[in-house]
Amino acid sequence: MSYLPQILFVLCLSIAGFFIYKRVNFIRKAILLGKKKSVNDRKSERLRHMLLLAFGQKKMFDKPLVGVMHFIIYAGFLIINIEVLEIVLDGITGAHRLFAPYLGEAYSWLINLFELFAVGVIVTCVIFLIRRNVLKLPRFWSAEMKKWPRLDANLILIFEITLMWFFLSMNAADSILQSRGVEHYVQVGSFWFSQWLQPLFANMQTSSLVFYERFAWWFHILGILGFAIYITYSKHLHIALAFPNTYFASLEPKGKIPNMDEVTKEVKIALGLAQADDSPAPERFGAKDVTDLNWIQLMNAFSCTECGRCTANCPANITGKKLSPRKIMMDTRDRAEEFVRQLEQGKAIEEIKSEKSLYGDYITKEEIMACTTCNACVEACPVSINPLSIILDIRRYVAMEAGDTPNEWNVVFNNLETSMSPWKFPPTDRFNWVELVNKD
Ligand code: SF4
Ligand code: SF4
Repeated sequence: MSYLPQILFVLCLSIAGFFIYKRVNFIRKAILLGKKKSVNDRKSERLRHMLLLAFGQKKMFDKPLVGVMHFIIYAGFLIINIEVLEIVLDGITGAHRLFAPYLGEAYSWLINLFELFAVGVIVTCVIFLIRRNVLKLPRFWSAEMKKWPRLDANLILIFEITLMWFFLSMNAADSILQSRGVEHYVQVGSFWFSQWLQPLFANMQTSSLVFYERFAWWFHILGILGFAIYITYSKHLHIALAFPNTYFASLEPKGKIPNMDEVTKEVKIALGLAQADDSPAPERFGAKDVTDLNWIQLMNAFSCTECGRCTANCPANITGKKLSPRKIMMDTRDRAEEFVRQLEQGKAIEEIKSEKSLYGDYITKEEIMACTTCNACVEACPVSINPLSIILDIRRYVAMEAGDTPNEWNVVFNNLETSMSPWKFPPTDRFNWVELVNKD
């Protein structure tokens, strides 16, 4: 009977592990819907980029105050994981404060540090809730931030506050139990911040206090397991995906628009610079659906924090156009998820593709045509997401497969074909105006 809590704990841990595994596998399938793209170059530069942006949160410090607040939540999350390790081991072994005898004095310092971050996380989360819901920062209230995305952002902040509260109040109850000499409660003394909560529990009977301490302990750890599952369904997946996302991000200058390999090959063959081979013709030029994008573009979509910095900096959006680069990423993720769900229901890929597509059902022509290709969204993104690359691939589909480009573009395309220049005259005539000026 005395092993019951441990058995229950291991059961909870296993259930959480199962759900996390299932969801991670689902996301993996969604990302692998994308085309293969191998990235093996400039490894040390990529590592540095990842450490600076994902680990060091470099771009968040463009606005120092917000950067510091994000850092507190992020560091709190990382550091408190050490405390979670002790809780998990306590849960499995039935011990209490397992690390205390081994760490001696350092143990109290460590718990004090956790408490410092716990308080920092509570204060920061309250400020973020006020920013979102009272001050109503415009980027958190735009068209795509309704229903679930808005609820998700608030839920996670409330979740974090609740977890930190139970951590601090558990420590406060624990300290009182230690002072009463209750068996099982290791003597580690009071802690810097939770001692201020002790008056709330001081008059409670020992049995009630033990009940509260155990309740807070279970709530804290079950909350963390629930949080770990929830993260995989939420925009907070970026906590993990920001690392590979920044590593595999393009290191090319932002203004460089990559050529299409399929077209480059055809042009080279036409100019006699390459030999024709018998490799199959590309299935499609550009992207109509998620399966036409590459896996890095799909990983981008799952890494999006929905922070809206891209949209807040997008000139098309600022001037009232329908385009929002954040929505492009959210739509891509939603379509990829829908695609995998239908695959899991047993539908064939072709059937799924024939029923709906990313372009048309999620992203409209009006949106992608509003893009100025300025790269402001790419520059603004704290985790190196590139909404422009998806917009360009869809535009390529619209131009090269759907033949649905605006008339103004068609004129340019015709001129390029006939005059090798965007204008009606050949490039050799480009400087004729100089002669006219000299004549005058
Ligand atoms: S590249 Fe396009 S989507 Fe990105 S900020 Fe510029 S106009 Fe907006
Ligand atoms: S693409 Fe980047 S900047 Fe835009 S909402 Fe997502 S994380 Fe934020």
